[in-house]
Amino acid sequence: MQIHALGTGGYHPNEVRHTASFLLPEAGILFDAGTATFRVTERLLRKDLHLFLTHPHWDHIIGLTYLYVPMLLEQIQSIKLYGNRYTLEAVKKHLFAEPTFSHMPAFELIELESFEQPEVQIDSYLVRWQPLPSHPGGSTAYVVEENGQKFAYVTDTYVDGSYEDFIRDADLLIHECYFSDETSEWAEKTGHSYLTQVAELASRTDVKKLLLTHIDPRENTEEPWDLTEVKTVFSEIEFAKDLQSFQL
Ligand SMILES: [Zn+2]
Ligand SMILES: [Zn+2]
Repeated sequence: MQIHALGTGGYHPNEVRHTASFLLPEAGILFDAGTATFRVTERLLRKDLHLFLTHPHWDHIIGLTYLYVPMLLEQIQSIKLYGNRYTLEAVKKHLFAEPTFSHMPAFELIELESFEQPEVQIDSYLVRWQPLPSHPGGSTAYVVEENGQKFAYVTDTYVDGSYEDFIRDADLLIHECYFSDETSEWAEKTGHSYLTQVAELASRTDVKKLLLTHIDPRENTEEPWDLTEVKTVFSEIEFAKDLQSFQL
């Protein structure tokens, strides 16, 4: 399983990070459509895309508008857009609205609630999901399993204990970490996570590797915080970086 980190920043892009987008180029699977979505077309190894949204905040959906031209030019021939009902309604009503962007690309909209089980098989890739309750309006966690490997993507949540079994034993966990330990008092208030609690989560759930994403965009460097101390909690921890790729 190949995974490209296209956008690893928090709410807005900065000099080193675009906002949320992670591509599995061989599978044609994309998680979130942040400002990094302009990077998808030239990296996608197929003509069809399965795009899974976590929630409808702008930093996760604005890039849906960037897919209009690639679809028009048939660089991407079909896009299945998955999200919960609340998310897809918000995309239709607030993003592709007459005054802001009147032409919604020819997405096939697929509500997560329409599945009997919270999972869909895409070729050899099994994608599963679980709601995350502790972000304003909620978010959605995803797991992909293929060929004995497990990848988990969790963003826009406080570490609230509700999804530990879901991500357990993942070979790679990409988890949000908006805040450092110094600014941790903001995490619960805003429904985001901070450094030590994410490392402790990775340790408790026996994941093999942890990449931190959705970093506070005021941090304008690739290595915003010193990880030396937190590596005593969980050693296989790194910052995700834009345009980094991983092979599981
Ligand atoms: Zn966000
Ligand atoms: Zn959010």
